Amino acid sequence: MRIDHLINGRPVAGSQYFETVNPATQAVLAEVAAGGAAEVDAAVQAAKAAFPAWAGLPAPERARKIRALGDLITKHVPELAQTETKDTGQSISQTGKQLVPRAADNFHYFAEMCVRVDGHTYPTPTHLNYTLFHPVGVCALISPWNVPFMTATWKVAPCLAFGNTAVLKMSELSPMTAARLGELALEAGIPAGVLNIVHGYGRDAGEPLCAHPDVRAISFTGSTATGNRIVQAAGLKKFSMELGGKSPFVIFADADLDRALDAAVFMIFSNNGERCTAGSRILVQQSIYADFAAKFAERAKRITVGDPLDEQTIIGPMISPGHLAKVRHYIELGPKEGATLLCGGLEAPELPAHLAQGNFVRPTVFADVDNRMKIAQDEIFGPVACLIPFEDEAEAIRIANDTAYGLSSYVWTENLGKAHRVAAAIEAGMCFVNSQNVRDLRQPFGGTKASGTGREGGTWSYEVFLEPKNIAVSM
Ligand code: NAD
Repeated sequence: MRIDHLINGRPVAGSQYFETVNPATQAVLAEVAAGGAAEVDAAVQAAKAAFPAWAGLPAPERARKIRALGDLITKHVPELAQTETKDTGQSISQTGKQLVPRAADNFHYFAEMCVRVDGHTYPTPTHLNYTLFHPVGVCALISPWNVPFMTATWKVAPCLAFGNTAVLKMSELSPMTAARLGELALEAGIPAGVLNIVHGYGRDAGEPLCAHPDVRAISFTGSTATGNRIVQAAGLKKFSMELGGKSPFVIFADADLDRALDAAVFMIFSNNGERCTAGSRILVQQSIYADFAAKFAERAKRITVGDPLDEQTIIGPMISPGHLAKVRHYIELGPKEGATLLCGGLEAPELPAHLAQGNFVRPTVFADVDNRMKIAQDEIFGPVACLIPFEDEAEAIRIANDTAYGLSSYVWTENLGKAHRVAAAIEAGMCFVNSQNVRDLRQPFGGTKASGTGREGGTWSYEVFLEPKNIAVSM
């Protein structure tokens, strides 16, 4: 199979191709066009040319096409989920039941929203001030390899619904479902040039895209290191930067411990632990720490690692051999830093022969972790949990905030006042109280500190995809 760029509604061959492989088997899935500055420029020019007509469409007409794309995704859930699972190693139970349906939701939601964009009026005795929201123009949308389809659609849907045109660049490690998205967008009646897709590596395709003078806004999801690089190289543009995390999952002794345990297991081991909002630092109050740690490790040992196409599998392969090596590095580092390995570790999981070459790792739990250890400070982005004891509320807040990151956070307590106090005190873009991460498309999604700038979701997506203009009329 060959995947080309999509520029101005047509497949465009690359001058070079790279392979995307199934991380469970290393089988080659497709040859993918490797774009550079020339393809980026052609895609930006196509998006620029398509912009006036698309922005000029009445919102209900745009909404119809955006909704049609959501419907097409819904129709193709099984196919898209299979492709996503093969390309990323994310389990089919997640891609089929959660991630691809959520991609359809993104289009349905923003189709509803774009007809409701309104302004404000500020009348005074001398002037009538009012605001208009204009689309920004050509937007660069850059997606990482974890949950790539959901993430790409989370950007494409508001971008297009609000009247912008786009150049989408997927991660070189997971480009396949986006290629289908391009085809489905055309089938939904979205005109040629409105959604363009350039494949390729970050330095070759991503960098010229972000630096392109005709790109007006960048919505980027990826690592903090790349986010920093983009901000420095891109010049004056609108930015939304959704970056890395090392989110605290704080459990007080008075929590509903059965529910907390379920949620803690889910937040670090679902999606292979390759999740920006993973509750990767599990802070547990000292009085319940030993008991909780034993139960948590028992649950982790029972997690099914295996073929991501099997409905029973929870943890599939890591995305690439390079990423597997990174995760294994931290598993090796834990005991050297003084942490106690409760389960998992470096020994390869037992798997059937067809998965022998896959990038698999056992779910791993470290206890007695000190928050200053590297395993507690660095984003591992794999199924590795760090259990950190704390004494009281003040210490929980101090440890929770002792990190470069500030994406998500989780607080578990039955004490109402404490729940609100701790939720307010944690430095993070999001806090879930007595809950795992549950996405509401209206909520502001994003992080603070090294986890990024800007928020997306609901009207928060105006920030990057719409330009407010004030008009003052003398009375
Ligand atoms: P990455 O930063 O390596 O790559 C992300 C994307 O940026 C890829 O498409 C890549 O090709 C591109 N890229 C790389 N260098 C570039 C450059 N110089 N200019 C422009 N584009 C460039 O990240 P990754 O390894 O693909 O993804 C994992 C990271 O993403 C983790 O840190 C994770 O926390 C983060 N993430 C954050 C969120 C969030 O919402 N905050 C969601 C998912 C993933």
